[in-house]
Amino acid sequence: MENLSNIGTIKEILSKHGFTFSKALGQNFLVNPSVCPKMAEMCGADKETGVIEIGPGIGVLTNELAKIAKKVVAIELDKRLLPVLNETLSEYKNVKIINDDVMKINLHQLIKDEFPDMKVVVCANLPYYITSPVIMKLLEENLPICALTVMVQKEAGQRICAEVGTRSGGALTVAVNYYSSPKLLFNVSAGSFMPAPKVDSCVIRLDICDKPTVDVKSSKVFFKIVKSAFSQRRKTLSNSLSSGLGYNKQTVNSILEKLSIPQNTRAEQLKMDEFAIIANEVYILEKEIENNGK
Ligand code: SAM
Repeated sequence: MENLSNIGTIKEILSKHGFTFSKALGQNFLVNPSVCPKMAEMCGADKETGVIEIGPGIGVLTNELAKIAKKVVAIELDKRLLPVLNETLSEYKNVKIINDDVMKINLHQLIKDEFPDMKVVVCANLPYYITSPVIMKLLEENLPICALTVMVQKEAGQRICAEVGTRSGGALTVAVNYYSSPKLLFNVSAGSFMPAPKVDSCVIRLDICDKPTVDVKSSKVFFKIVKSAFSQRRKTLSNSLSSGLGYNKQTVNSILEKLSIPQNTRAEQLKMDEFAIIANEVYILEKEIENNGK
């Protein structure tokens, strides 16, 4: 539909369908006409590409994606938006709307069924109440996708794109950097949405790596270390790891000493490869304990 990102057109459509916003579903719709074309252009989609969109709302971004991609599959949880999307996307034959919860849907199956032999990317203005769980689901499931381009709250975007090993980084920064190479693309002001949220947003792009960016014996142990280390980020590793992993301090300290990592280091000072070597030592220790118990 032409002029869909025009605020007058959006208000007209919403009132025609008697639509009221759901705060619980994170419904802040984009009304700044410059944002969606830019997101679509920067997400890496072209005429050979399939795009998964999460939460199309009334289809503002979907419209732009449909113009440039081979096919768009948009997952929308709110049933009330289906008749709206039917109207706003009626001219596109390459768009499919699936009424489902992104956290419950089987994305491997969806990609197999909808995008056979296609390069696939994700592009979405995410509902903010599930930003981290959605990003982690998309990364952890090892989906055959090349990149995620998502709008998130500015603070979350800055944290995700921070450098690992600096004060601005956190557990999510490390997790994202394990699977991908993150980049902050551009900022979007709160006034670009209806209703306007309290905070500004930004668009980030995560380019998915073929394999984890560090060599680990077990990703489960790697993430256990990351979680424990950041669960008490102001504490030293010696303290946070011993309480998080359930080992005595002496055991943790001897691991750190062996790896030449000072005991008073904090989680936010560790680089990716340091998390990895700690995780690999803990993995060996756990195997030893397991074998001794047999
Ligand atoms: N893409 C639209 C835009 O940019 O104007 C709407 C974005 S709005 C921030 C988030 C959208 O995600 C809403 O349409 C909401 O109904 C939908 N949504 C919320 N939770 C969802 C879930 N668990 N699964 C799929 N869609 C969801």
